[in-house]
This record gives sequence, structure tokens and C-alpha cells, in this order.
Amino acid sequence: MSYDRCVRCGSCLKICPIFDAMGEEQYSPRGKNYLLQIMDEIEQDPEAAKEFRKLLFTCTMCGRCKETCSSDVDLLKVWHEQRGKAVQENPEEFAYLGPLQNALENVQNIYGLDPEDRAMFWLDELEDEIPGLADRVYEPGKTAETMIFLGCLMSFRSSQLDVLRSLFTALEKDGADYMVMGSEEFCCGHPLYLMGDDDGASELRSHNKSVIQDAKAKQVVTCCPGCLIQLKEHHNLEGVEALHHTEFFDRRYETLPELKQEKEFAYHDPCELHRVLEIKKEPRSLLDKMKANYRDIEPSCCGGGGLLRMTDANLSDIIIEMRAASEGLRENTVLTCCPSCREQLLSNNLETKDIVELLAEVLEERGD
Ligand code: SF4
Ligand code: SF4
Repeated sequence: MSYDRCVRCGSCLKICPIFDAMGEEQYSPRGKNYLLQIMDEIEQDPEAAKEFRKLLFTCTMCGRCKETCSSDVDLLKVWHEQRGKAVQENPEEFAYLGPLQNALENVQNIYGLDPEDRAMFWLDELEDEIPGLADRVYEPGKTAETMIFLGCLMSFRSSQLDVLRSLFTALEKDGADYMVMGSEEFCCGHPLYLMGDDDGASELRSHNKSVIQDAKAKQVVTCCPGCLIQLKEHHNLEGVEALHHTEFFDRRYETLPELKQEKEFAYHDPCELHRVLEIKKEPRSLLDKMKANYRDIEPSCCGGGGLLRMTDANLSDIIIEMRAASEGLRENTVLTCCPSCREQLLSNNLETKDIVELLAEVLEERGD
């Protein structure tokens, strides 16, 4: 077991956002690793074992511990496996996840909404502004080089509409041969993956794979790092490249017009993009091509990942508040490129923009 390799050096303590907020060893990666090492003893006490299972979900799955670990323990893998075991063996303790699991099983989106509505809301809002958008929605027999995978948040949340408008504007300005999956898009499976439910996730993935292949797409592009993890690492898309939208657009433009801006931005790296997928260069490269004035902040978690909002919304709020205070985020618009980070920032009254919003702005200004 890789957690046996932990030498309790403590390097992972100071970077864990949960330990930072709670200040008690059991919330830290080192603390949980130690509890795993003495699990035989812990299991003698049902209350302690239950508490440990809750600790597994009191984690944003940000991956900072894995990145930092001096003994090369693959902590994200450990948390993933242990979460799966905890939910499978003690489902009654995770009843709060039940509605999400049911929604994904029955209607294949996290909101429990009619799957037919996946392309309804944003299409109603945007089709006058972006002529031809309705024709971009996948139907059997239609093909395109680039399939856009919106994900549940961007398909259903009005708070994402500005990003969608900018994404479609940028794709149109670029002249891309693209299509969106519409009602044929199923959740990518990431929420189930975060619960350790690989079987449930794989059912969703196999449908998406068949649609992407049926459309003869060469690329699938998403704005959501969680979706990208699933598309890139778990959908088994033979001959189809999965890209983040910042990668896609960074490749398309050597140069860009200069952005007009009044105040400095702060750039927040989405954890799953930065650490899990190691996509760090492209978002910055796009910003640099636009000569955007931004400052990097410590690449730490916004508090919205790992299903923490479902396990402990209060703690999730504390993490973003602490981050906002330590990084002075209320002084700037926070740039990011993840719909989930966006939700977390907005719900804590922080101003935010996706990088594609800036891109659409400069492309519109140029009037291509
Ligand atoms: S994944 Fe992030 S929140 Fe979870 S234990 Fe590691 S550092 Fe802490
Ligand atoms: S950094 Fe790795 S080895 Fe050190 S305490 Fe944390 S988990 Fe253990």
C-alpha cells in the first residue's frame, strides 16, 4: 500500500487547505495516512472508523499533498480508493450523496433535470446573438472536427452564461468546425469518480464516447477541468484528442490583440487543471499573448472541489474566505478557467472572469 511509505515528515501539513482551516492533525494528509496505517486498531472502534470515513470526504481532492509528498505517496489515488471503499461498505453514512447518484443514474446530469433540456436554456438565451448556433447541436449523422463538451455546470447554470457566450463567440471568430453534444451529452462521470464509483462513471463515459466517435470528431474540447480528467484519462477515446479550451485556443493564435483593462487581475489556477492535468502553461500563454496584466497567486484550492460543498458547505466557504483574505482577492477580478471554481468564487461574492471571456473581448475588438 503506498500510504505505508509515509515517513510523517509533515511537508503536506502546511499546504493542505483543510488542515489550514481546521488546524487539527486528523484533517491533514499526514493524519489520515497515519490512521490508515493503524486501521486494524481504528476498526475496533466503530465510531472512530465512521469518523475516519467522514474525514476522507472532508477533502477538496486538490492534489497539493500528492504534489508535495516527500515519499512520493500517490495521495490522490489513496483518497480515491478509500472513498470508494467507504461508500460501498457504508452507504447509509453517505445518504447525502444519494440524490446526486440517483440523478446521474436516471437523467445523467447532476441537477436531476430533464436530459432534453441540456441545450435548451443556453440556446434560448444565445441563439439570437450567435446566428446558426442551433445548427451546432449534435444529432445522429452530423459530423464536426471539434466536439465541445460543456459539462453539467455550463449546460444548466445561468451563472455560466457569460462564459458560454464568450466560448461560442471565440469559436465563431476562429472559424472552427465545431458542434456541441446537446441532449446527447451525459455527465462525464467525474462526481461519481470523486465518490470512488468507477462502475457508475464508466456507464456515462461509454455513451459519451459513442457520440463523440459517431460525430467523427478529431478533438473534444471542454472548459471544465473535471470533465477533461474524465475525457482524457477515462473515456478511452481512441484517435480523439481531449483538450482544455485554453489549450485549444492557445494553439490557434500565435498573436492576439492587446486587452484593454483598467485594473490588474489575479489568476487562480484550477487545482485539477494545474496539478492533476498539469496544464499550467497554456492559460498563461493566452493571457500573455493578450498582454493581460495579471498576478499569479499561490496555486491553492478555492474550496469547491472534491464534493466538499456537499459534505461541509460551511468549511468550503471558510476555505474561500481564507484564500480571499490571504491573497487580497477582493481587490481584483479573479481570472480562472473552470466552471466549478467560478461557482465557488461567485457564491462568495468575488468577481471572476474566465480567460475565454477576455479572449472573446479582444477578438470582437479586432472585428475578425
Ligand atoms: S487533496 Fe488537498 S484537501 Fe485533500 S488532503 Fe490533499 S492537500 Fe488536503
Ligand atoms: S508529505 Fe508524504 S511522507 Fe510526508 S507526512 Fe505527508 S504523506 Fe507523509
